[in-house]
Formats: sequence, structure tokens, C-alpha cells
Amino acid sequence: MTDKNNSGEYESVIGLEVHAQLRTKTKIFCGCKVGYGAPPNTLTCPVCLGLPGALPVLNKKAVECAILMILAVGGEVQERSVFARKNYFYPDLPKGYQISQYDQPLGLGGCVGLEASDAHKAKAIRLKRIHLEEDAGKLLHSESGESFSRVDLNRCGVPLIEIVTEPEVLKPAEARRCMTRVRQILQYLDVSDADMEKGQLRCDANVSVRPVGASEFGVRTEVKNLNSFRFLEKALAFEIDRQTKLLKSGGMIEQCTMLWNEDRQTVEPMRTKEESEDYRYFPEPDLVALIVNDAWLKEMQAGLPELPDERKRRFIGQYHIHEADAGVLTDSRELGDYYEKVMCDFDDGKLAANWTLTELLRVLHEEKTGVASLRVKPPMLADLLGQIKSGRISGKIAKVVFGEMLKTGRPAAEIIEHKGLTQITDISKLRKVIEEVLAENDKNLRRYLSGRTGVFDYFVGQVMRKTKGMANPEAARKLLQEKLDELSS
Ligand code: ADP
Ligand code: MG
Ligand code: ZN
Repeated sequence: MTDKNNSGEYESVIGLEVHAQLRTKTKIFCGCKVGYGAPPNTLTCPVCLGLPGALPVLNKKAVECAILMILAVGGEVQERSVFARKNYFYPDLPKGYQISQYDQPLGLGGCVGLEASDAHKAKAIRLKRIHLEEDAGKLLHSESGESFSRVDLNRCGVPLIEIVTEPEVLKPAEARRCMTRVRQILQYLDVSDADMEKGQLRCDANVSVRPVGASEFGVRTEVKNLNSFRFLEKALAFEIDRQTKLLKSGGMIEQCTMLWNEDRQTVEPMRTKEESEDYRYFPEPDLVALIVNDAWLKEMQAGLPELPDERKRRFIGQYHIHEADAGVLTDSRELGDYYEKVMCDFDDGKLAANWTLTELLRVLHEEKTGVASLRVKPPMLADLLGQIKSGRISGKIAKVVFGEMLKTGRPAAEIIEHKGLTQITDISKLRKVIEEVLAENDKNLRRYLSGRTGVFDYFVGQVMRKTKGMANPEAARKLLQEKLDELSS
């Protein structure tokens, strides 16, 4: 290793292997349903259990999901790719091998673009490959002191894609941004729900450190099966720190596979290279090569949906909103969908964006729910915003109405009617309130009349208070000014 830097500082290099569960109805090589939370071992058959003589048949939908992802990241779909057996023993793998792709994967190249933000520059992380494979089952370790574990094989044969980056990620936070971006693209394409809590998106992180300026990579370790953004960042930070300290003290890194231990907040070795897997990959004899011809590829290309960047640009132009707002609105596909549905029945893009980004996001955050489970559907929010636009209610009252809509699922008009929340635009009513306010604030009135017109806003505030926020502020200001002018002359 050539160290062109004498500062003694080290830098990290990270490469990610991201696994995403594809959104198919059935498994990749059999007709078993893909389901989450089904009773253990109810979604299995001889194929995914690996019983002798059972033969796999490739699921076309899974291939199409993978193709879409490869195209979306600008990768090259290989006309011919080959499935391979990756042999290893583990109790969650009844066949004794996993069907994956090895030296001839479905996708090569492409990149994941990371957007610039206040804290970061824009950057593209190049991809080595994207390939198809099947998932393994799940071990259920006893929590009650039993001396054995159980296994649920429902997940055996669930379709996955593995997305492998070049070693170009530099920091744990960048790894997180990369993974977030992958999730966003998957969700836009609708090829994966990519719900990390359900294990639909997981990642193995390879990491090494080297002296700043060195031209070669250091020896890497691999932290397996990180299933949350937080774990990914914490595990990487821990491992980078461990490697750096070890190198600084003159030690050597041993290539090995590790696991993040959340309870102990450490990374622990699982196996070293010596005892490491020799998977003895060989072509899967029960499956023919996967051929993606031109016609199929063109069809898939034509079916590529709008991606986050395009959508953001369209939002800015179509709805006349700021770039930053358009960015947040298109961060998640479902939020952008919601906003667009509101805009089907409403015409003020900025007002709708404000409400979506403040009120709606706040509720989603507080309740920790997704857009889909909101009781206020887009046309209902459009209706509420319409009531603000028409001056029937103030923005402030609209927030009260919105809160009620969330709780009850009732439409805005009904709540406004029922609670008598209509804005007071009735001139005689407002005049009466203004007279009351001036009568009750004799001292301030004399101040105003002596030229200290700054108390005007105080009077407006009092009118709003007396009407519990239901006075139309513009009308109130106008009438108040009239009244004060009258008194000054
Ligand atoms: P293998 O064939 O042994 O699995 P790959 O070349 O496919 O190795 O790399 C696996 C992952 O490890 C990739 O994401 C790659 O970017 C990453 N990687 C390879 N070498 C290093 C290194 N020295 N430091 C950090 N990550 C690395
Ligand atoms: Mg690998
Ligand atoms: Zn099956």
C-alpha cells in the first residue's frame, strides 16, 4: 500500500449489497403465495421446500421487476443470464443451496444518484451488478429458554434482487443516503414495497479503511443483514472506528463476516475467511438460461414509470411550487400521489403544497402512519382547501376542521356547518364586535387617537379573539380602519 499522506489520518470505503424483496403475488420458482405474517410453514410446496424431484419454474413477473430496476438505474439488462446454485448449509435453507445468479447476472452497471443537499454534494454511486435470487427461510429462536429453535419456511423462494455497489461509498451517512435512494426508486417503480420493518429491504455492508491518499483499498470486513437505516449507520461507524484504531496501533485487519449486535451496540465476528464459505457455485441444472430478447426489453422500457427526478421537475412546472417543496413532495411516491390527487380537485398548487408539507406531514409523523391509512382522503382535503380559498373559513379555523376530519373522517362542510365555524363576513356582526372592542379598550383607543397608530394590530387581535378566530381578518381590518378614521375626524 502506498501512503502518500503522512497525517496519519484514515478514510473509510464502503460497498453495499442491498437485497430487496420483489412485489410478486407468488414465489420466484413455484406457485406458492408470498405473504407476510401467515402462520408458519403454510406457504410452502415441494419446490420451495426442496423435496427430491421437484422442479423450479421461473416467475416472469419477478424478472420484469428486476428488469425495471436495472433500467431505472441506467444499468444494462443482459440478453442472456444464468442461474447458479450457491451451496451452503444452514437450517433455514432446506435445499442446501440457494438459487442465485453468479458470473452471468441479469444486470450490469448503472448507478444510484444521490442528490445534493445543504450538507452534501451530489454524487453518483456506480453499481457492479443487479441479480435475481431466492430468499431463505427464517429461524425463530426461543425466548423462553427452550433449548431448540423453530424454523418458518414461508419465506423460502420469495423473490429478491441483490443490488451491488462499487466500493465508492465513503461514509456511513452516505451509505444511508444510498440505501434511501434505492428504496425510493424501488417504490416508484412499484417493484418492491421495500418495507424495512418487514425485512423487505436489507443490506450487507462491506467496509475497509485506508490512509488518506492511499491508492489501494484496505482489507474489508462485511457486516451482514442490516435491516434498518439506523443499524446500517451505527454498525458502519463502529466498524470504521474499530478498524482505524487497530491499524493505528499497528494491527492488521482480518477479512471476516460480522453481525451487528443491537443489544450490545457492537459488531461481532460471525466467521473468518478461513472458515468462510466456499459456495461452490455451479450453473443451476434445472433452469435454462434466462433470455431477455429485444422485444421484451423494449416493452419494459416503454412501461417505465415516472421516476422521482422527473416528477419533481414536472411538479415545479405544473403546480408552480418551489424546488425544495417539490423535492419533499416527491421524496416518497405515496406523498406525491396524495398531493396530485388533491390537485385534481383544487387549483392552488402552493396552498396545497403548504398543507401537505406542514399539516399532513406533521400528522403522519405524530401518528407514525402512512398516507394510505389517513381518514382524510385527497378529495376531502381539496374540499377543505377550497373552503379557505373561497373565504368561507380562515386558515386557522381550517386547521381545527382538519383535526376534526382526521378524528371523525367526516367531510369539511359538515364539520363547519355543525360547529358553526363559518367565517364572520357579515358586516353588521363585525361592526358590533369592533364597537365592543373599542369600548372595552378605552385607554388604547385614546392612544390611537393621539397618533400612536401602532395599537391598530392590537385591536385586530382583540376582534379575532372575541370571535374565536372566525372573523374574516381582511374584513375586520377594513371595518376597523373605517371606524377609527370616523372617530379621528
Ligand atoms: P465478492 O465477489 O467477494 O463478493 P465483490 O467484488 O462482489 O466481492 O464485492 C462485494 C462488495 O464489497 C461490493 O459491494 C464491493 O463494492 C465491496 N468491496 C469490495 N472490496 C472492498 C473494499 N476493499 N472495501 C470496501 N468495500 C469493498
Ligand atoms: Mg458478495
Ligand atoms: Zn412453493
